[in-house]
Amino acid sequence: MSTNKAGDDMHSNHVGEFLKDNGIKPSYQRIKIYEYLMGSMTHPTVDTIYNALCDQIPTLSKTTVYNTLKVFIDKGIAMAITIDDNEVRYDTRTDVHGHFKCEKCNEIYDFKANIELEDEDVLRGFEITKQQLFFYGVCKHCSEAK
Ligand SMILES: [Zn+2]
Ligand SMILES: [Zn+2]
Repeated sequence: MSTNKAGDDMHSNHVGEFLKDNGIKPSYQRIKIYEYLMGSMTHPTVDTIYNALCDQIPTLSKTTVYNTLKVFIDKGIAMAITIDDNEVRYDTRTDVHGHFKCEKCNEIYDFKANIELEDEDVLRGFEITKQQLFFYGVCKHCSEAK
């Protein structure tokens, strides 16, 4: 939907370089998927990403989206969020942060989370490779709408 074709290409080049720097071959589909993921703050699912891009990329399949996301996760530039039992959502923000899921509108919000584990005897000597912090409830917008 961009009217500025040159600017769009420049942005894609930038994403391509970023993928290359992270050891990922920057194919057109990968660039488009990463761009979409980066631009949407909504933590999309495979279906959401597929539906958003399939008009632009007629050769795209859900399997490609899924496999591409898997590559991103393996290379550490994306994260899978399993806040729902029945759907996995994806995030380009890979620093430690928590997720709040609104049970009314299904929106997922990022929040800063800094858990002090130094005094936690149980984890002494353990190596932590992944942290996920999930909160559930009703967001401000939904409770105000009541
Ligand atoms: Zn809500
Ligand atoms: Zn997030």
